[in-house]
Amino acid sequence: MGILDGKKALVTGVASNRSIAWGIAQALYSQGAEVALTYQNDKLKSRVQQCAEACGNGPTMPLDVTSGEDIANAFAELGKHWDGLDILVHAVGFAPREELEGSFVDNTTRDGWSLSQDISAYSFAALAKAARPMMQGRNASLLTLTYLGGERAVPNYNVMGPAKAALEASVRYMAQDLGAEGIRVNGISAGPVRTLAASGIGDFRRMLDYNAAAAPLKRNIGIDEIGNAGAFLASDLASGITGEILHVDCGFHAIALGGNEAG
Ligand code: NAP
Repeated sequence: MGILDGKKALVTGVASNRSIAWGIAQALYSQGAEVALTYQNDKLKSRVQQCAEACGNGPTMPLDVTSGEDIANAFAELGKHWDGLDILVHAVGFAPREELEGSFVDNTTRDGWSLSQDISAYSFAALAKAARPMMQGRNASLLTLTYLGGERAVPNYNVMGPAKAALEASVRYMAQDLGAEGIRVNGISAGPVRTLAASGIGDFRRMLDYNAAAAPLKRNIGIDEIGNAGAFLASDLASGITGEILHVDCGFHAIALGGNEAG
């Protein structure tokens, strides 16, 4: 018996078997949930279908979150398979690579700012709006992924920092808005993980090494651990938790001067 038996979950953002979304999809499935996956474009379709086969062979569908039409089509497609939705995982983020290094002030552009806010922050509210009708009367749960760079200035994270800050504020506004319908909204602030998206951040290796040395647990986080935290937040065990950002980062957020190895 799992903590998500009978629940239906839509997971966005699986790009590879290193994706945080993949860690979450596996954890949701192993706790009993049925899992549907989305892919941004045809390039990723077969890879995402393989992932779907490994977690119960649920529906897969295209979804580029910059397109309102895509969002509507994805939920129309989901509605053909399922009569309701209990869990939505938003694990999507993007900023232009050239804006993820060097000087924040010099390198941030109007277009880069708008695009990163659109894909990384606005899309969470847009997906919630589309999911809302399918989530009625089910004690449903929305979950997003954020990073410490939304709270503190992290070298090279640059334009993604304000996007994550907006995303975290959205968690609180969405929690307030949807709470009366029993829908909970939370975020996981994950420690650094080597993924495709992370490879676009300048000097990411240093971020990983620094975190592993300084974090209280003296290591980096795994996507299985982020997945387990996601399964908990999505489950009825977390029925009293909403509007929360849970740090799943081996404790890095809690320290100021790290271990002697850091620096
Ligand atoms: P990832 O495996 O590269 O996943 C990012 C996903 O976002 C990919 O599936 C990507 O699809 C998708 N995406 C980008 N633009 C999209 C669009 N317009 N429409 C739909 N999907 C789009 O990287 P990840 O690190 O697991 O990222 C997942 C989330 O975790 C992101 O929000 C990220 O900021 C957050 N996070 C990551 C870390 C870390 O260190 N890795 C730490 C904390 C939080 P394509 O590959 O097709 O572009």
